[in-house]
Amino acid sequence: MKLKKLSRKIKPLSHFMWLIILILIAGSVTYFYDINKKEQSQILRKTFNNIYLQKTFASITSKLQPRFIIVDYKVKQGDNYENIINQISISKKEKKLFLKTVTKNKNLKILRLGQNIYFKIDKRSSPKILEFKVEVSKKKEILFSRTDNNKSFVSKIIEKDLEKVISFKEGVIRTSLYNTAVELNIKPNIIIEFARLYGFQVDFQRDIWKNDSFQIIYEEFKNSEGKVIETGEIIYANLNLQNKDIQLYKFEYEKNKIDYFDENGKSMRKTLMKTPINGARLSSSFGKRKHPILGFTKMHTGTDFAAPKGTPIMASGDGLVVRAKWCGGGGNCVKIKHNSVYQTVYAHLSKFGRGIKKGTRVKQGQIIGYVGSTGLSTGPHLHYEVIENGKKINSQKLKLPSGKILKGEQRKLFEVNKIKIDVLKSDLISKL
Ligand SMILES: [Zn+2]
Repeated sequence: MKLKKLSRKIKPLSHFMWLIILILIAGSVTYFYDINKKEQSQILRKTFNNIYLQKTFASITSKLQPRFIIVDYKVKQGDNYENIINQISISKKEKKLFLKTVTKNKNLKILRLGQNIYFKIDKRSSPKILEFKVEVSKKKEILFSRTDNNKSFVSKIIEKDLEKVISFKEGVIRTSLYNTAVELNIKPNIIIEFARLYGFQVDFQRDIWKNDSFQIIYEEFKNSEGKVIETGEIIYANLNLQNKDIQLYKFEYEKNKIDYFDENGKSMRKTLMKTPINGARLSSSFGKRKHPILGFTKMHTGTDFAAPKGTPIMASGDGLVVRAKWCGGGGNCVKIKHNSVYQTVYAHLSKFGRGIKKGTRVKQGQIIGYVGSTGLSTGPHLHYEVIENGKKINSQKLKLPSGKILKGEQRKLFEVNKIKIDVLKSDLISKL
């Protein structure tokens, strides 16, 4: 009798036990799944940090897929196959195989500026290059696919059948440069490049007025149906601000070295950019002001640019990142040392750019972080400081030495090049 009673008690209890066991099993499965996922995402993050290290924002766009990593790389000045492959997290053996494959192919001897290289990487267990594609010209690329035994690649030439068209666009700015450009069907890549080129001397928020205008000549690549598949380079640009022309001519001043110069052969490149951010509004200038949070009057030692959270912030010049961490009232900040005279500070960032940490070398225009409101801040903005010989100065009044001025033989070649572009321009205008 006693036993029967006990077993009656145990029965519902055993149901309960089973339930607990089931919950435990389910719990541990999700736990291990999470750990695994975390590990995978860590490996991925490592790979990405590496790829993005010291790279300009427009050069690489990577897509994440469940098992594969796609890397679209654009060749930059000074690149070689070795330094390109070293930016991808794969084994030494894989790198060696890649280098062996490209050096064996005669078509790939020379790397050209702006050339596209595509990688498809299988990230399972030990990451492997499944295939890669090197653009030999805008019309031709070579695809290398892994052989069945995994030990080498087979190559195949792909004809892209794209036609290069030189496009001329001209517009009057009614609302914003960006809107006008979009209305004219100018591809975003070209608009970004245009903004970057003028970013050295033009403050897009304050210097551009309604009814200012621009002209632009650039390359487009169309398929057989006439659809623009790719854009090439800007050949000429003119920004007319308050009836003053600012012209830029593309010129290859040395083999594989391209820059933009004004009509007098002066490079548009300056040591520092006036505004290291696009589409922002200057919200507080350098000087004495009442601090928005602390309430008392205090010297504002930088310039504030209001912009939506997440807006990319550029390195205003080439340099070395000397700080990329939390710095109290400034929230997340980045400090760059450009040379012995100039340093710049960027504060209140929501996050840092990929690969940006102390000791990273950055190029002018490279994304170093994103607008946020961290630290003592009332809303999303960039606080930008320029330090000259250790003293904080007003970035907006800074008279910066411009870059290179073409002289001698280079200048002669530039003049010829300029005339050619001017002829091209009037030709394109006459066809409108
Ligand atoms: Zn500020």
